[in-house]
Parts: sequence; structure tokens; C-alpha cells
Amino acid sequence: MFSLITHKKEVAKSIKLTVGQDKLIFTLATSGICSSSLLYEDLRHKGNVCHWAKYIWNDFILTRIAFFIWKVVLNGISMDINIQQRGISLASKCPYCFYPNIESLEHLLFQGEVGSNIWVYFSKALNLTTC
Ligand SMILES: [Zn+2]
Repeated sequence: MFSLITHKKEVAKSIKLTVGQDKLIFTLATSGICSSSLLYEDLRHKGNVCHWAKYIWNDFILTRIAFFIWKVVLNGISMDINIQQRGISLASKCPYCFYPNIESLEHLLFQGEVGSNIWVYFSKALNLTTC
């Protein structure tokens, strides 16, 4: 019967001892020298690679703006419609519009008065025309 203790004993017997001074060898590097970056790479959870993340997380976009975009893309903005989709009964009303509507991402960014005014402002500032 194979057990973990038996396996450990076999591993211990297979180790060849040599005469001389002991030396630590870092097995994650070919050089044997330990580095914190290699340890971090070995220990961290490696999820799926997000190819478009480099367009958000870069030196040209402020970190707080990048976080906002990231949350928008992942539907992480706290809005009434997200709360309703989780089964919580809630009367939704956008607090920023004169004629309020359900608070959703589309309303906040595109359809609502604030969002559409921002798009109009930047369209004029950048001399863009709408379709
Ligand atoms: Zn609104």
C-alpha cells in the first residue's frame, strides 16, 4: 500500500549527500538565485489574459478613469438596475435628469441628460459630427 510517508521515505533515500558546504538553490530560476519577482510570478493566480486591458491600464489614462472604465466594462457600477437584477425590489429613478428614467448604464452614459450633454460637449470640442 502506497502512502505519503512511504513516498517521503523513498524521496529521502534518493537524495545523494556530498561532502562540502551546503548551498541553497532556487529552482524557479536557471541561475539558482532567488528573486522576489520570480517568487511572485510563481505564487500569483494567473487568470485568463485580457487582451484589451492594455488600452485601459496605461500611462495615458488616469488611474481613477481607468478604474471607472474597468467597472463599466465589467458591469460593476452601482446602479438601480443592477440591484433589481439581483432580485431586490427597488423603485428606480435617475436623480440627474429633469424627466427621470430607470437608472441604468445606458441611461447614465448615453441616453440621460447628463450623459448626452457630455457627448455633445466633447463632440463640439473635438469637432466631431454625429451620424
Ligand atoms: Zn438621468
